[in-house]
Amino acid sequence: MDEKKKKPAAKKPPVSPIIFTERCVGCGTCMQFCKHDVIEADAEDGKPRIKSPWNCPVGCRTCARLCPTGAATFQDEEFFITYLKKRLSSRPPAVQNDTSRREKQYQ
Ligand code: SF4
Ligand code: SF4
Repeated sequence: MDEKKKKPAAKKPPVSPIIFTERCVGCGTCMQFCKHDVIEADAEDGKPRIKSPWNCPVGCRTCARLCPTGAATFQDEEFFITYLKKRLSSRPPAVQNDTSRREKQYQ
């Protein structure tokens, strides 16, 4: 097939985090644990900045989960939590109980 006639691959919408630099304490955790080369240190202040917003796999929220100050977050965080709660509440009670038992193990 002629290479010129190929349609360009559609880009996924960016699902990268937002970094609120005023909340960031520069601990570097988000950069250390991101395995997809999305975040890099700013040359001036060393704080994280998004380099490759399309590299985040859908569902990865490692940086937001590990950020101690909530500086790394997602625009749709509320939507995501509501979605998860809804999915969990629609499970059979046995599964819900199992989930809450496991949650208690880690508290
Ligand atoms: S969501 Fe995952 S892949 Fe994206 S920046 Fe955070 S740790 Fe990296
Ligand atoms: S984990 Fe949070 S506080 Fe630490 S560098 Fe990243 S955004 Fe800043």
